[in-house]
Amino acid sequence: MTKILAISNQKGGVGKTTTAVNLSAALGMKGKKVLLVDLDPQGNATSSSGLEKNKLTDTAYDLLINGSETKSVIVKTKFYDVIPANQNLAAAELELVGVKNREAQLKNKLHQNNQYDYILLDCPPSLGLITINALTAAHSVLIPMQCEYFALEGLTDLVNTIKKIKKQINTEIQIEGLLRTIYDRRNKLTKEVSDQLSAYFPNKVYKTIVPRNVRIAEAPSHGKSAIQFDKRSKGAKAYLELADEIIEKEGRV
Ligand code: ADP
Ligand code: MG
Repeated sequence: MTKILAISNQKGGVGKTTTAVNLSAALGMKGKKVLLVDLDPQGNATSSSGLEKNKLTDTAYDLLINGSETKSVIVKTKFYDVIPANQNLAAAELELVGVKNREAQLKNKLHQNNQYDYILLDCPPSLGLITINALTAAHSVLIPMQCEYFALEGLTDLVNTIKKIKKQINTEIQIEGLLRTIYDRRNKLTKEVSDQLSAYFPNKVYKTIVPRNVRIAEAPSHGKSAIQFDKRSKGAKAYLELADEIIEKEGRV
């Protein structure tokens, strides 16, 4: 069965796109069939996958708004497939408002497609209609977090949104896990926030911690995941470990 994972946090710069791209590559490298859906008009997941976002004619926008078939917007890369996005997608946030069944557009497109083991949704940094579409389509949510002062506060808004979606639209949605990203072990506050996180969400915080690692930040400018750019880097190793943790969890269910 296909598992659809929304990678979401309305805060920008916490490692959503980095996680979406590197987890896709890691799962793909481990033999899983993966589709990465870029749902951010910034198109960073698209360019980090080696695609030229401004040359693309068929994108997530066409899937959500123009009635394009899922098959026709998929692009293949070495380890995973991609539904790309670019600036066009910004208009979808408003255009969806007038659409019937507006929150279920993505779900209707993705649930017809069962050739994948995992579909990863890279969400934009907001809780608008595109994110609502992602949370409606998803089986669970992976939340990347930077362990900083306001991190827990932002988490409450996201958790409340997920609860609302669970009640009204998608009864099966769960929190898949909280991932500590861009982690700096030398910072005392980081450790404190991390401990609080584990206390508030027991059993939901991944064992894997993604360290702050320069190779992760360099990889996108080469159009690659860190895993393809430098498999031996600490960042790449962390995402390979996360893939194992996710696959293992699946095995227990
Ligand atoms: P989001 O999608 O949540 O906005 P990104 O994944 O784009 O966040 O990450 C924001 C910035 O931080 C990017 O420049 C990215 O390369 C960098 N970054 C992400 N994770 C790490 C990490 N573990 N170590 C160093 N830099 C990182
Ligand atoms: Mg992003």
